[in-house]
Amino acid sequence: MKIYNTLSKRKEEFEPLEEGKVKMYVCGPTVYNLIHIGNARPMIVFDTVRRYMEHKGYEVNFVSNFTDVDDKIIKKAIEEGVEASVISERYIAECKKDMQALNVKEATTHPKATQEICGMLDMIGTLIEKGHAYRAEDGTVYYRTRSFKGYGKLSHKNIDDLQGGNRSLLVSGEDQKEDSLDFVLWKPKKDGEPYWESPWCNGRPGWHIECSVMSKRYLGDEIDIHAGGEDLIFPHHENEIAQSEAANGKPFAKYWMHNAFLNIDNRKMSKSAGNFFTVRDIIEKYDPQVLRFFMLSAHYRSPLNFSAELMDAAKNGYDRIVTSVSNLKYLLENATSDTMSEEEKKLAEEAKGFTAKFDEAMDDDFNTADAIAAIFELVKFVNTNTDAESSREYLSSLKEELVMLSDICGLLVEKKQEMLDSDIEALIEERQAARKAKNFQRADEIRNELLSKGIVLEDTREGVKWKRA
Ligand code: AMP
Ligand code: ZN
Repeated sequence: MKIYNTLSKRKEEFEPLEEGKVKMYVCGPTVYNLIHIGNARPMIVFDTVRRYMEHKGYEVNFVSNFTDVDDKIIKKAIEEGVEASVISERYIAECKKDMQALNVKEATTHPKATQEICGMLDMIGTLIEKGHAYRAEDGTVYYRTRSFKGYGKLSHKNIDDLQGGNRSLLVSGEDQKEDSLDFVLWKPKKDGEPYWESPWCNGRPGWHIECSVMSKRYLGDEIDIHAGGEDLIFPHHENEIAQSEAANGKPFAKYWMHNAFLNIDNRKMSKSAGNFFTVRDIIEKYDPQVLRFFMLSAHYRSPLNFSAELMDAAKNGYDRIVTSVSNLKYLLENATSDTMSEEEKKLAEEAKGFTAKFDEAMDDDFNTADAIAAIFELVKFVNTNTDAESSREYLSSLKEELVMLSDICGLLVEKKQEMLDSDIEALIEERQAARKAKNFQRADEIRNELLSKGIVLEDTREGVKWKRA
């Protein structure tokens, strides 16, 4: 299995630190709003990487954080007149609903920055002791960037070029830095902001330190894969390397993976530019699986432009797989013979070739575009080589293969079809009862379960309405 490593700018053979195990950390969202579909790209891409590795037999320890202390969260909390944690908890819950709808597996651990302050104090203390960080007069702790010899190795930047370029970026309050390249590890509290006590001042952490600390705590000093969107290469991941390697004295992550942007009109989709659609916007119009399919239809390192036309094409593509599975099910239910004929044995063997093609594509730096093309070839093969005379054994073998490959991509092609109208209505009734009993957790669970199967609920004055996305 080959992975493109941002660190070496090459595809490298994947060799885990520990046989049969993968330690993987993916930087998660800052939770102050509903996530947009750009944020969903790394979630879907790295969930698919995880699923493929699990399919290959690896035990994957998958850690992904929530940044739940940040200027934008605090700003929103002040606007709403609530504690910052009210905002972050609300949007963590909403983010988890979207992830569930998109069939993104729960991380092994989903740490939150505010729960990891002790670890941050420890690491910052170590960095100061080792001369890699210093306290300024106002209590801010800065990382002494030039003290780390490998600085720039991930983003392939020369530290001296950075120095020149960044001087003008000094903002007020940062003039106590020894060097303009130094970045904040800990900063003094401002009025009305959440803060923690520390040996340096009452305050809160800078952004970069949380990932170094959470990765160390849940995965150890050295990990296999660290991932995120390409905007994180610099400075976030560069700074993480500087912190972790200086504090732990060991190489941090072996493979660095970065997804390219999801664009709209060839511009990065982002909250700040305002050119975004939330996942919620999209899954009200499309089955969440169509969005997942759309994301995987391009290689993760290629920019992907979002448009209604491409989503419609994704819908057609996804439907072709679902229909093929559905046809196989129908034939299976009505098959008259049990065991494979000699001819069918040969065909079933031939069909395995599509799995080999799929694996070959995924082994080549997770080329999901080609992997999906292999699924389509299998769909075509199924559609032309099955009929009412086919045996149960043969049909099952094809169905298993098609469902297995779809499942590696996290595409639900089977379960959803089993959702009959009567089942949906029974669940809606149960949800109403749960809400009446103020059991909002159960009510939410039901809503999410339905969402994950492509059923969207709408609470209207006339009662609850539902539709298939
Ligand atoms: P943020 O909440 O901005 O820290 O982003 C969370 C994750 O989403 C990070 O891995 C970002 O790199 C990624 N991300 C944000 N916007 C986009 C986009 N338009 N396309 C792809 N990834 C994105
Ligand atoms: Zn991070």
